[in-house]
Amino acid sequence: MSLHGAYDPDNIFARIVRGDMPSVKVWEDEKVLAFMDVFPQAPGHVLVVHKLSRARNILEIEPHELTELAAAVQKTARAVERALKPDGLTVMQFNGEAGGQTVFHLHVHVIPRREGESLGRHGGGMADMDELKAQAAAIAAAL
Ligand code: 5GP
Repeated sequence: MSLHGAYDPDNIFARIVRGDMPSVKVWEDEKVLAFMDVFPQAPGHVLVVHKLSRARNILEIEPHELTELAAAVQKTARAVERALKPDGLTVMQFNGEAGGQTVFHLHVHVIPRREGESLGRHGGGMADMDELKAQAAAIAAAL
């Protein structure tokens, strides 16, 4: 999938936003949604999306929606830090297949990091659902 092209309204994250596909939600408002990554690169890996924008990547999003998304990313990162007390946080975002993107609804990764632990494989093993739910509840309680 190149950087340019049509938004697929049936991509996984669009389906999660619509509620057609289950997800472990952390928090949401009318514009943004934060939910747990089911193939986490570290425990506590959260994804943040804009719910109204149909941007596939950072090139396409309206600046005011990008501002809303950025604020949601910071709110999520602060809660992750308070809840999980990581040593660091990696915030990342991929654009186009060549840029490492696999789901073409713009999203930002918030990943808590531990000293001496390298980042897990992108798209690695599936998480335990009970662990994801416990992490989401802890992060939500720290908002
Ligand atoms: P990208 O590679 O596009 O930046 O990241 C897509 C992310 O979505 C990956 O980290 C992957 O683990 C995650 N992911 C893929 N499918 C699903 C899914 O069905 N549910 C959730 N919660 N995350 C997913």
